[in-house]
Amino acid sequence: MNDIPRVLKIVEVRMENPMVKTYIFKGNLGAKPGQFVNVWMPRVDEKPFSVAYCDDKEFWLTIAAVGPFTKKLHKDFVKGSKLGVRGPYGNGYTVLKNKHIVLLAGGYGAAPLYFLAHESVKNGCKVEFIVGAKNKDLLLYTEMISKMENVSLHIATDDGSVGMKGYNTLILEKLLAEQNGSSDGHGIAELFVATCGPEVMMKSAMDICEKADVPIEVSIERYMKCGTGVCGNCCVDGLGVPVCKKGPVMRGEMARKISGLAKWHRDNVGLKINW
Ligand SMILES: Cc1cc2nc3c(=O)[nH]c(=O)nc-3n(C[C@H](O)[C@H](O)[C@H](O)COP(=O)(O)OP(=O)(O)OC[C@H]3O[C@@H](n4cnc5c(N)ncnc54)[C@H](O)[C@@H]3O)c2cc1C
Repeated sequence: MNDIPRVLKIVEVRMENPMVKTYIFKGNLGAKPGQFVNVWMPRVDEKPFSVAYCDDKEFWLTIAAVGPFTKKLHKDFVKGSKLGVRGPYGNGYTVLKNKHIVLLAGGYGAAPLYFLAHESVKNGCKVEFIVGAKNKDLLLYTEMISKMENVSLHIATDDGSVGMKGYNTLILEKLLAEQNGSSDGHGIAELFVATCGPEVMMKSAMDICEKADVPIEVSIERYMKCGTGVCGNCCVDGLGVPVCKKGPVMRGEMARKISGLAKWHRDNVGLKINW
């Protein structure tokens, strides 16, 4: 962990889709899947982003342009530009050994789960990777996922432009039902689910997993400032813990205790905002 921002050069920028770019930095960040870093743009702001991939030579951040910080990043920061990076912070996902895991991604959630898939396969896991998006142009990482060994890619789009038409949680439901009683040595009792994406999607996945009695880990995003649990801005009602430190990744049973889960969150000054 490095609390003092390291000023790092962007060594490559990859266009993922019209809204999303991946920024590649050289260096050994030492992050685990599900952890995040704070990116500092001097005189602008500092914002949290999940690590999309990391090894001892480089790490990736996959960033959607949604507001002032991320739009400026997309516009002004190119190969060779420098940014401050501190971290990694937070709890990561559990990286299991020799298990059958299901990853459920919505939006930029495909990026941190790609990192988890990578590490899980190294550990002998078989992976079902479900990626969802509004339409085919907004899908993320699917080409790379489709080339991974021991990973099966499942796609859902709201408009049916590619993959199954409808919510990606329907695929999760179907996969769990298929595994129930399967005789391939990877029955439902062996399954483990990890998800990252819109909270309403993750809540629906939690409900499906609870019904099927399958463990699930979710990644909870709240407005974060310090990243170290000091400022308290990301403390969640119902749990009273800073998500930057006790999360962002947590078990479904813990996330269930968050008041207003998938309904509202709080902004930078603590006001309630509906999702
Ligand atoms: C643990 C964590 C991991 C994240 N990983 C990624 C990622 O991999 N890729 C990605 O594109 N985005 C990620 N985000 C979200 C990212 O931090 C926001 O999109 C970004 O801060 C938006 O800033 P903005 O000024 O461009 O937009 P704004 O208009 O300021 O905000 C747009 C949205 O982002 C949320 N947001 C703004 N500032 C923060 C903040 N300091 N902390 C948390 N949420 C904020 C707002 O609540 C709002 O919903 C992550 C957030 C968290 C908490």
